Amino acid sequence: MSLANGRHYLAIPGPSVMPDRVLNAMHRAAPNIYEGALHDMVDGIVPDLKQVARTAQHVAIYIGNGHSAWEAAIANMFSRGDKALVCVTGHFGLGWANAARQMGVDVQVLDFGRNSPVDPARVEAALRADLAIRAVLVTHVDTATTVLNDVAAVRGAIDAAGSDALLAVDCIASLGCDRFEMDAWGVDITVAASQKGLMVPPGLSFVWFSEKARERAMTSNLRTPMWDWTYRMAPRMFHERFGGTAPTHHLFALRESLDMIAEEGMEAIWARHDTLARSVWAAFDAWSVGHDHIGLNVTDPAHRGRAVTAVRFGAPHGTAIRRWTEQKAGVTLGIGLGMADPSTPEYHGFMRVAHMGHVNAHMTLGALATIEAAMHALNIPHGAGGLSAAAKVVGQGA
Ligand SMILES: *Cc1c(COP(=O)(O)O)cnc(C)c1O
Repeated sequence: MSLANGRHYLAIPGPSVMPDRVLNAMHRAAPNIYEGALHDMVDGIVPDLKQVARTAQHVAIYIGNGHSAWEAAIANMFSRGDKALVCVTGHFGLGWANAARQMGVDVQVLDFGRNSPVDPARVEAALRADLAIRAVLVTHVDTATTVLNDVAAVRGAIDAAGSDALLAVDCIASLGCDRFEMDAWGVDITVAASQKGLMVPPGLSFVWFSEKARERAMTSNLRTPMWDWTYRMAPRMFHERFGGTAPTHHLFALRESLDMIAEEGMEAIWARHDTLARSVWAAFDAWSVGHDHIGLNVTDPAHRGRAVTAVRFGAPHGTAIRRWTEQKAGVTLGIGLGMADPSTPEYHGFMRVAHMGHVNAHMTLGALATIEAAMHALNIPHGAGGLSAAAKVVGQGA
């Protein structure tokens, strides 16, 4: 028997759940792209986007996914042969490093493994050893390992080393979920995409940048017409903001999501994600007691992101649970990414529970309850009390 009929819940770390308000905002005829209401709407979107990243500086909007924002940032930051220091705490950090290398940047990777955050002391040492490094790239929350990095501490390391490197941060997973303060933390470049905390379909990406980054970019020779942020930031003609036709319906969706974010407030949004994340952690802590095959990927809660949680159940239980919750209970959970080679048995031990964007207590508690149901159905031994531990966190948080 299946109990999956009813509203399906896609609990993967992007695309995230889209609010009906956002979906409905797109259900309309295309607007005039040459003048009028669309232009006014975009004029309002720009300052609101800056608020979400907590910056008073610049923003460029791209038509593309997170990978496009990676390339845009790289193109504007570097000339061929320039040096980059990339701090890697999982699959996505490696991806950004590889993109930079393929574009002709001289990339040095500092790898901190799959369970621990960036160590600022190692960043400082690497920068002291090479003052020619032009930028430090770091992932705020690596969606694969769900390691959360201390961005302000990386800025501290750059300054302590006497380096004038730019600080670029991938906030694709974390924006709108984990506290992020671009200007206060001294970040020069922030990248994000529409389909995660911003609750909009995949297809838009964003690069916020400091005045210092804008000045440096003027000599970067990796810029091409598509990635160059000069006119996206300050278009002479409306179409230059998007390098062509505006992504009209994504913009309607984004306008609505930014309204929803403003209505709830950033502090309240961060607090909601914090409580939901802690409820997930509490469930796994209880399930893992006496069952070492079950556990959270990141041991120290201080280093865990609040948009998504990477977990292990021991192979083949991770994949078996995912299949069960999708087919029997209407909840799709995330695959384990970058934790083991997909061709090996170990791969099937990992998965991820997303709690990013338009999610509330009953959704997260429901996802956890379906995981426990799957463990019962599949005879996977686990500690008792996971659901009540999660419910207790929600009860106290609310
Ligand atoms: C999702 C994600 C990406 C990739 O974004 P795409 O839209 O899939 O290209 C990169 N970095 C992080 C941290 C992400 O969460």
